[in-house]
Amino acid sequence: MTAAASLPPAPITLILPDGQTIERARLYERQQLDNGLWVYRIGVPLWQTALGSGVEPVEYETWVTSAQLRPLPGVDLSAVPTRRRVSVPEPARWAWVLARRRAGGAVTVHAAGCHLATDHGREVGTEVALDALARPGAVACPGCDAAEVLLPILHHGQNQASPDE
Ligand SMILES: [Zn+2]
Repeated sequence: MTAAASLPPAPITLILPDGQTIERARLYERQQLDNGLWVYRIGVPLWQTALGSGVEPVEYETWVTSAQLRPLPGVDLSAVPTRRRVSVPEPARWAWVLARRRAGGAVTVHAAGCHLATDHGREVGTEVALDALARPGAVACPGCDAAEVLLPILHHGQNQASPDE
């Protein structure tokens, strides 16, 4: 952040809702959201009423998308601080426990180390845990990471015919 803070903002053209343009708005940083969309933090110098009397300069700051921006010819934006989407945790690093309430009963999948897992559980990898979870009656423990991590993977696999969202 210290390196980013020392950089002057890059000039960029901002397109306003009514079609006007501000030729040299200030572009501070860009960030990729979880859904892949890029957003850009820009600043526009404005006036505001000063306490007492008169006016004073103020900067309006907001996040916009590339649809509201137009690069200026000859302005290099490669040095603008950029934060890419943080990658999701690699499921292969997880260990899981398959627990049964009774012999032959339905499986509950836990993250290894979950205090709700019974003593009868055995530790398995993500592939095996997903297979077990896909069986009828199997459930993911809501008290550990099992539901949060495994269910989205499982549902994604089952819905591959249709695009997400
Ligand atoms: Zn659990």
